[in-house]
Amino acid sequence: MKVVDAKFVTAAPVIEAIPPPVLPEAAFMGRSNVGKSSLIATLTGRHKLVRVSRAPGRTRSINFFEITTGEGPLTLVDLPGYGYAEAPAVQRRQWGPLITTYLEERTALCLNVMLLDSRREPSNADGDLLAMLIEFGRPTVIVATKIDKLAKSKRKPALLRLSKAAGVRVLPFSAKSGEGTETLWQVIAHACGIV
Ligand code: GDP
Repeated sequence: MKVVDAKFVTAAPVIEAIPPPVLPEAAFMGRSNVGKSSLIATLTGRHKLVRVSRAPGRTRSINFFEITTGEGPLTLVDLPGYGYAEAPAVQRRQWGPLITTYLEERTALCLNVMLLDSRREPSNADGDLLAMLIEFGRPTVIVATKIDKLAKSKRKPALLRLSKAAGVRVLPFSAKSGEGTETLWQVIAHACGIV
């Protein structure tokens, strides 16, 4: 996918600050350190773009990016990473009503992109989030990140294990090699009607 332009729109720390839905939106979520910033940078081909999500005070916000592709415009939404050390209840409190409300009610949301580290078992928090996404009923895809860190022989079993655990499509991805970038773009474009 050709990315013609990509710009940061706004950071929403509270529900009231979420911008009106204008373009179709694909939302990216996963626990801290899963590779979400690297994935968004790779998808857009703009490594400076995601730095704004890391600015102090923005790591707990929902960050909106407007992307112009060769096929049409869309919004990429960077949800705050959740911690893997906390108990699910604490994590839910932190992630809070902001994210739950966004995921449940956002009319423009056309695809949930949930990131899981291809080398790790999904955590309780991952499982809680996935169950919530499935309950809300929107198209959802899992991206297995850092696939380059797995030996070739271990990739297929790891992907199978994740897709069995998750019950949705799993795409292998590497921000390091770029593997999976075009397939993920195709899935996003299809779900968001920009092809
Ligand atoms: P975030 O906290 O989810 O935004 O994660 P980052 O994108 O900041 O990545 C966390 C760490 O994993 C960084 O040290 C990245 O360089 C590394 N990382 C992210 N994606 C990949 C990948 O595809 N391959 C490898 N080998 N490392 C990655």
